[in-house]
Amino acid sequence: MAVAQGSCPSCGAPIEFGLGSSLAKVCEFCRATVVRSDRGLENLGKVADLAMTPSLIAIGDEGTLGGRPFQVLGRVQLDHGKGPWDEYYVAFDYGQAWGWLAYAQGHWYVTQPVHGIGIPPYQSLRPELDVDLGPAGRFRVAEVKSGTIVSGEGELPGGFPPGFTRYYADCYGLNNAFATLDYGDNRGAYTVFTGWVFDEPQMVVTQVGPRTANKVKSAQIKCPSCGGDIPKLSGDRAERVGCPYCGAISDIALQQVVAQQERAMQMPDIPIGSHGVFDGAEYVCIAYMRRSSDFEGERYTWEEYLLWSQPVGFRWLVKDPETGWSWVTPVNLAELDLSSMPRGASWGGRHFTQRNQNMARVDYCLGEVYWKCEIGETTHVSDFVNGGDVLSREEGDGEARWSYSAPMSWAVIAQAFGLPVAGGGGQGFAAGSGGGGAAAGCGGSAMLIIIILIVLLICMLGACGSCLGDGSGSSGSSGGTYRGGSGVYSGGK
Ligand SMILES: [Zn+2]
Ligand SMILES: [Zn+2]
Repeated sequence: MAVAQGSCPSCGAPIEFGLGSSLAKVCEFCRATVVRSDRGLENLGKVADLAMTPSLIAIGDEGTLGGRPFQVLGRVQLDHGKGPWDEYYVAFDYGQAWGWLAYAQGHWYVTQPVHGIGIPPYQSLRPELDVDLGPAGRFRVAEVKSGTIVSGEGELPGGFPPGFTRYYADCYGLNNAFATLDYGDNRGAYTVFTGWVFDEPQMVVTQVGPRTANKVKSAQIKCPSCGGDIPKLSGDRAERVGCPYCGAISDIALQQVVAQQERAMQMPDIPIGSHGVFDGAEYVCIAYMRRSSDFEGERYTWEEYLLWSQPVGFRWLVKDPETGWSWVTPVNLAELDLSSMPRGASWGGRHFTQRNQNMARVDYCLGEVYWKCEIGETTHVSDFVNGGDVLSREEGDGEARWSYSAPMSWAVIAQAFGLPVAGGGGQGFAAGSGGGGAAAGCGGSAMLIIIILIVLLICMLGACGSCLGDGSGSSGSSGGTYRGGSGVYSGGK
């Protein structure tokens, strides 16, 4: 079924192209990029070794995406300078079409080339710019970046010389529409790719291709700093990990420490590895972060927990000492009415008014995160409010992301994770903030606080006493891996 074949100009091994749109192939024996043209096969030079990127698919996999059959033929590995990520070259409909498939932030992104659409010059792009892609519809820019193609394997739609820098913008449309404006090396030629964002369960792999050595699955991430085995909680979906044993933050693909931080001094309110059910979906808490910002000369700190659910993707629970706990959902920026920015924004038929804006900094991170997290990384945050609900915009590093937060009481969170309602999650709020459910209204005299603390301590001792007898550490809303674990991490799969 090869559409073209020959032998590698570098090592003589057989080279086969399975798809008409494949113009290059990385020789699996000598790793030379072999390009086909009228003159035959040419050698573009060897590609670098592939980094061990975490990934859910590999070359040779076949399956369906939203019911449409696909086959994975190749992949390129790109890097912004913070560590690599993968994009997969796939054939659709048994070779009738081709496109790119990528996994990011809990979703699959699939795009195909469309021709004859004009786009604005790369230099004029910025996040939230509206772009009209004609028959493909209207899109809004979320990300304007460049990445260097560092390696690849299998078949590819073109030959990329080593060090090729690709300039692009990712855009979202209504109803899960997605587009990439690919400016190539930004010398004039471009390609528009349009497609969709899919929830993970919509992709089904029916035939698994052979895994190369760097794609062998393991249940642990080895910390390159202390050698500790960190249980993988979100499968092969995380980019970086903050080690619960030594505190080092490492890039999973590069197996390199990117930052050192103190060991966890105390267990987070929701221990990493805890399982909880919200709205019928089971989530596992995979990371804990502390972030802060300067507000009128004072450092203001809050905590964030990253949750992951296979059918839903990623969600956040945020513990703010002023406002209490909230549940955070990502918002498709194409759904926003931004006409009254920066004073306000509308979404879902509601108007949100700007409350504050500042720079937020990541101070501490434990567990698995789905982006190239760095300690000290900052984003510009603007919060827009409507009652107790908040629409937040975070911008930094060429991208803008929006999310929606709704208050949630600690009692609800504790019950979902099987944690003590009287535990730490209900404490640590400013007097009169009303935050935290269980702790709400305890802003009285010092004596009253002491009495409450004693009562809480007794309750906690009672709760721990009852859990000591249950070493199962199973998942589910009542059990949770909180029980019977060791240290911050307590099992999970
Ligand atoms: Zn070869
Ligand atoms: Zn470690």
